[in-house]
Amino acid sequence: MMEAILRQGLAELSLPTGTIPKLVRYAELLAEKNKVMNLTAITDPAEVARLHFLDSAALLALSDFQGKRVVDVGTGAGFPGLPLRILQPSIRLTLLDAQRKRVDFLCQVCAELGLEDTACIHTRAEEFAQAHRESFDVAVSRAVAALPVLAELCLPLVAPEGKFLAMKSVDTQEELESAQRAVTLLGGRLEPPLDYAIPGTEIRHRLVIITKIRETPKKYPRIFAKIKKNPL
Ligand code: SAM
Repeated sequence: MMEAILRQGLAELSLPTGTIPKLVRYAELLAEKNKVMNLTAITDPAEVARLHFLDSAALLALSDFQGKRVVDVGTGAGFPGLPLRILQPSIRLTLLDAQRKRVDFLCQVCAELGLEDTACIHTRAEEFAQAHRESFDVAVSRAVAALPVLAELCLPLVAPEGKFLAMKSVDTQEELESAQRAVTLLGGRLEPPLDYAIPGTEIRHRLVIITKIRETPKKYPRIFAKIKKNPL
C-alpha cells in the first residue's frame, strides 16, 4: 500500500522510484519508535507516505537541491530533510533539532539507511548559528514557528545568494505580510510563493521562498527568549 502510493507520487513528481525501499524502511523505523516516544501524530502508513514523504519530496520539483548544503531547522522526525536526502543523494544534509531523543532517532535512521554526508545535530538553531553563520546554500523548515520567528532562526544560516524555503499552508497571506520587515532586516527578499498539491491528494501547501541578498547583521539571531517575546 505505502509502496504503491510512493511509486505513483514520485512518478508524478518525475522523481526516481529506486529509493522506495529506503523510504519504506524509514517508515518502519518511525512506526516502531513512535510506540515509545512522540515522533509524529501521523501513524497510518498511507498518510505517512503522503503527508510526510510526498509533501517533503514535492520540494525537489520546486527548487534546485543538486549538490547543495542543506540545513533542516526543527526537523523533528526528519521532515522534510531526510526524504529530500534519500531522493537526492547529492545533498549534503544537516538536520537540527532541539530535542535530543528525536536527534538520536535520526542518527539511527541515517546509520541504518547508510546515508553519508548527513549530520544529525542536537542544538537550538539560534545557538548553532553562532558558529555556522552563512554556511548553507539552502535552509528548509516545516511546522516550527511563525515566519517572523522562523526567519530569524533560519536566515542567519544561509549564505548570500542562498535560499530559505519555509513549508506553510496556503492560508498564509497575513503571515507573509507580517514577516516582510523581519526578512528585510535579516538580509532576505521574499519571492512570490509557490503553491503545490501533494501528489495523490487534494491537499495544497505553499512553499515560501526567501532569497538571501545580503549578509545577516551580526546581532541576529538573538537569544530565543528575545526572538519569541519581540519578533522582528
Ligand atoms: N519539521 C518536522 C515536521 O514537519 O514534521 C517537525 C515539526 S515539530 C512540530 C517542531 C520541531 O522543531 C520540534 O521537534 C522541536 O524540537 C523543533 N524546534 C523548535 N524550535 C527549535 C529551535 N529553535 N531550534 C531547533 N529545533 C527547534
